[in-house]
Amino acid sequence: MIDLTASVNSIRGIGEKKAQAFAKLGVFSLYDLLSYFPARYEDRTQFCPIASAPIGEGVCIRALVADMPRLVRVRRGMELVKFRAVDESGSVDITFFNQNYVKDYLSRGDCVCLYGKLEQNGNRRSMVNPAYEKEDRPRGVTGCILPVYRMNASLNQRTIRDAVRQGLDECADQLPDYLPEELRARNRLCQARYAYENIHFPPDFEALAIARRRLVFEELFVLACALGTMRAERTRESGLRMERKDLSAFYAALPFTPTGAQRRAIEEAAADMTGGFVMNRLVQGDVGSGKTLVAAALCWLCRENGFVSAFMAPTEILAEQHYATLSSLLAPFGMRVGRLTGSMSAKEKREAKAALAAGYYDLVIGTHALFSEDVAYTRLGLIVTDEQHRFGVRQRSALIGKGEKPHVLVMSATPIPRTLALMIYGDLDVSIIDELPPGRRKVDTFAVDESYRQRLYGFVRKLAGEGRQIFVVCPKVEDDEEQEENKLKSAEEHAKTLATVFPELRVACVHGRMKAKDKDAAMAAFVRGETDILVATTVIEVGVDVPNAALMIIENAERFGLSQLHQLRGRVGRGRHKSWCILISDNTSEDVRARLSIMEKTNDGFRIAEEDLRLRGPGDFFGSRQHGLPEMHVADLGADTQVLKTAQEEAKALLAADPQLQLPEHEALRERIGMLFQNNTDSFN
Ligand code: ADP
Ligand code: MG
Repeated sequence: MIDLTASVNSIRGIGEKKAQAFAKLGVFSLYDLLSYFPARYEDRTQFCPIASAPIGEGVCIRALVADMPRLVRVRRGMELVKFRAVDESGSVDITFFNQNYVKDYLSRGDCVCLYGKLEQNGNRRSMVNPAYEKEDRPRGVTGCILPVYRMNASLNQRTIRDAVRQGLDECADQLPDYLPEELRARNRLCQARYAYENIHFPPDFEALAIARRRLVFEELFVLACALGTMRAERTRESGLRMERKDLSAFYAALPFTPTGAQRRAIEEAAADMTGGFVMNRLVQGDVGSGKTLVAAALCWLCRENGFVSAFMAPTEILAEQHYATLSSLLAPFGMRVGRLTGSMSAKEKREAKAALAAGYYDLVIGTHALFSEDVAYTRLGLIVTDEQHRFGVRQRSALIGKGEKPHVLVMSATPIPRTLALMIYGDLDVSIIDELPPGRRKVDTFAVDESYRQRLYGFVRKLAGEGRQIFVVCPKVEDDEEQEENKLKSAEEHAKTLATVFPELRVACVHGRMKAKDKDAAMAAFVRGETDILVATTVIEVGVDVPNAALMIIENAERFGLSQLHQLRGRVGRGRHKSWCILISDNTSEDVRARLSIMEKTNDGFRIAEEDLRLRGPGDFFGSRQHGLPEMHVADLGADTQVLKTAQEEAKALLAADPQLQLPEHEALRERIGMLFQNNTDSFN
């Protein structure tokens, strides 16, 4: 008997060379092989009569070989086997290229099953290089749902299929079931054996769905358990224990009343900080939901305990803005707030560093300059990072290294459903601010096409006349050689155009290819109200506050994802002025119209994120972001949300009952989690 842990070369027909090809696909053991699930399936279940089978798509036919297959030499090195096949409805010419053995395998009178694309020329129907099998000697290529695997040049579908078939025949009984029996029954999931058999070779689509559901559940459940145990590890790791302080003293001195959601997030984080464990918490809330206040409350708590907080922003401008906001929020409490950014003079930096080292500041705000090597902290107790996806995990840990296990609070403005956040942010605990401060007016949003441009410019003139400022976002930095019909607006060109359209207004441009210093200067001038129209690329996506900006125009809106459009829209409506967002696109495709109309209908970031995920799938959604999750084999984080939710609830319940998975019935699961960590040593953040 072959063992599941045996190498793939213990399969008949798999030698050293093919084993190496499998290794490139991440398949080493038989268990890997059985877990190498098909990338897709071909529906070959229906047989059609030759005469009425559809042209141009894959079909199965069952026919008689009507004449002796013959070899035709077209030219040197190119040979064909040809024959005619017939059924009761008609006939078809079959041609095989460079597969001479077909001639010896099939003879006149054989009944064959074929799968291929039918072509039609006049009244003659033909098929080239079909998959074939004799009816009395089936090879599993017709009349079935055929699994199609990802492969590489040294392996073909047949090799993989045959290997999997053999692997299943030999070892299906040994497949471990990680799911505790009771849980499996409760969620009406099939057994592992059934799942593996039917994910590879389903007799029908229902069996495939049953198999897939079980495997998706298992994958998400194992991951949720893994993340849960990581979180538990961390909570066991002792950290600075702070004392509880009466937050009402803090709330009372604020210029406004915190929302319920803000209080909840603050309470959750404060419980972490006073619980004796290291906090590692993500706060996510829509743009404008008031995350800064949450951070401020915790910095206050930290100071009350005699510790220093460091607040890290992704850009100079944001650091400056946070510095201004937090200073004015916290000064009434006598807190000393400092800053440390790259653009400060050498002397200023030296002084700031000295103050930090001496423990003078209660809170320091800055960019990545905060964690340069020559910065030392005294009694660092809390690190806050804003818009964390801009920071690498390594940068965050550099800062963590500067204290004695300081608490960490990460703030993100990309609202995603909690179930997903728990996955994507790995071992972080998650607080969600799902409520906006009262009186927020929604940004009225309109999706329009080019025919509105003149009216729009009239509107720009009117708003600017009232003293408001305007953002214009373009998808590109500069013009390049492109065909006229799919020309995208470039920030540089468009800024020039607008300068001529509005000679009376001050137009500036900012984009990612500018030097950081020039970029910051252009942004800062806009913040100070020295320019009326700022033409930009998505560099302005993150966090900047220009309360006087009341109009956001987005050119070629079809080029942006929903979440991105929402972030951009969040740049306006931050002051007391009524604000608008205009999405310009001439694209008439249904997808694009659907996306833009979601923007018109809702201002709710969570809803938008869900739609985005549904429309684009998780790959695109998370795009460039490093989320550090292990690769999913069957689960689709965008589509399998319901299963994800159940799997997480089950994982939570299981860990509550057996936190370290020590019960004998959880042993297989514990080992499986161990494997997950082994294969992804550095991917979890
Ligand atoms: P974000 O979550 O996008 O970082 P901010 O923290 O910048 O949001 O807050 C957005 C605006 O809302 C700020 O001007 C802030 O002063 C204001 N704000 C925050 N919390 C409240 C509240 N509870 N009531 C009224 N205004 C608030
Ligand atoms: Mg913010």
